[in-house]
Amino acid sequence: MRYIGRDIPRRVWKWWFNNHTVIDTLKRIVGAQYVLSSSDDVAVYKHDATPLFSGTPDAVVLPRTTAEIQEIVKYAAAAGIPVVARGSGSSLSAGTVPIHGGIVLSLTRMDQIKEINPAEMLAVVEPGVTTAELVTAALKLGLLYPPDPGSKIISTMGGNVATSAGGLRGLKYGVTRNYVLGLEVVLGTGEVIRTGGRLWKDVAGYDLTRLLTGSEGTLGIITEITVALVPNPAQSLNGIAYFASLKEASHAVNQIIAAGLLPATLEFLDQKCIIAVDEYANLNLDRTAGALLLFGDDGDLDVVNKHMELMERACLETGGFGIEIATEITRSEQLLEARRCSLPALSRLAPTLLLEDVGVPRPYLAEMVAKINLVAEKYQVICATFGHAGDGNLHPTIAFDEADPDAKKRALAAFDEIFSLAISFGGSISGEHGVGAAKLPWLKDQIGAEQVALLKRIKFAFDPHGILNPGKLGS
Ligand SMILES: Cc1cc2nc3c(=O)[nH]c(=O)nc-3n(C[C@H](O)[C@H](O)[C@H](O)COP(=O)(O)OP(=O)(O)OC[C@H]3O[C@@H](n4cnc5c(N)ncnc54)[C@H](O)[C@@H]3O)c2cc1C
Repeated sequence: MRYIGRDIPRRVWKWWFNNHTVIDTLKRIVGAQYVLSSSDDVAVYKHDATPLFSGTPDAVVLPRTTAEIQEIVKYAAAAGIPVVARGSGSSLSAGTVPIHGGIVLSLTRMDQIKEINPAEMLAVVEPGVTTAELVTAALKLGLLYPPDPGSKIISTMGGNVATSAGGLRGLKYGVTRNYVLGLEVVLGTGEVIRTGGRLWKDVAGYDLTRLLTGSEGTLGIITEITVALVPNPAQSLNGIAYFASLKEASHAVNQIIAAGLLPATLEFLDQKCIIAVDEYANLNLDRTAGALLLFGDDGDLDVVNKHMELMERACLETGGFGIEIATEITRSEQLLEARRCSLPALSRLAPTLLLEDVGVPRPYLAEMVAKINLVAEKYQVICATFGHAGDGNLHPTIAFDEADPDAKKRALAAFDEIFSLAISFGGSISGEHGVGAAKLPWLKDQIGAEQVALLKRIKFAFDPHGILNPGKLGS
């Protein structure tokens, strides 16, 4: 198996960059104004939304067409130059960080919604379309694109597919993976393939669409995406309930599920998050509560009303108090905002915020959070946890100052234990943000050495020169 630099040593392609051979070729392919190479121009592409990780690209290229990408990848493959796909750079797992340098391919110029087809209930988009742009365009035709990442205003569809992004509607509607019907992809050889298509049912061959979804730019560059849409629900309601602790909130969640409901929203905040969010957004939350549960559903009004009543009852029976069902859209949006703004709210606690993304089977949610709090005590770190109570996906978030080496060491040690804990519950080191460079050291602990080796063989089939996002999945 060949790896980066084995075809042509790194020092050779680095020399080509320095002598402008590579830059001139890239400029010829996409036009001079779409190739950035000065240290000032590439600076913003060194990082994404993940703290503590950076890498310097030798060039940033902004292609407009699949044909341009194909030519770039063929050239990079022949020269052994790394190519890192980038959407909006909102990755929370250092997925876009060019840790081996090379070319960052920014897909933001490929921003066309090619088609929204109400009869077939699907949309065809280029990878640089933002999630919110697709949602808005689909809504105008009475259709909903359900995946709802907190970053939807900025995140791109290419990034969403490459990470199989989740979000607030995961329990009822699933995640990005559940909506991808077809992809156009440039492989690491420069070949262009089309997987899946416009069909909701299609079992011809291995399911490459599903394999590429969540492949984090390591198997191919996604250049076109076909996604399924659903009818936009007539009504949507949200409510909140407070609990003395997350244990009671978790009982409420179990009771809601046991009542046969599959709510569109079932999210939680712990007390540290409640306080931070209330200070940040001034939503008039009860800061004395140990936990807040945000619940909601969508559909026909009478069904939604009935479901809200049942959820309210489940909360009351499990110790919930201060229950509020939003009667107006504005208040409903405010309640959702309490969950959506958790990250910016917590970011005010310290200069650096490490937001993590572990998953556990739903019944272990409260126990997991209790153990996370013990880990935080052991390492003396500020740790607040919020997340998707409905699907067991937690975001323990540690606030610290990375300029303080001891604080940084303690924060990293705490997460090391948190990942092990998640795995010990039969959970995952990442529910939705991806493995990227940040989680790669823990992947083997979760999926085992045989699967890690299989991932490498799969990567080799798609990317025999090892140029696509090296140092991430499959490396
Ligand atoms: C405030 C905030 C809230 C967030 N909330 C959520 C949430 O609720 N749920 C969730 O799942 N995530 C969330 N995220 C994480 C992040 O937004 C998602 O991972 C998102 O899918 C990344 O989209 P992007 O366009 O920014 O991709 P990038 O960050 O640019 O890239 C992410 C990964 O996809 C690859 N990639 C990008 N485009 C392509 C392409 N065209 N072809 C191949 N590979 C590609 C990159 O190489 C990288 O590995 C949040 C992030 C922030 C900052």
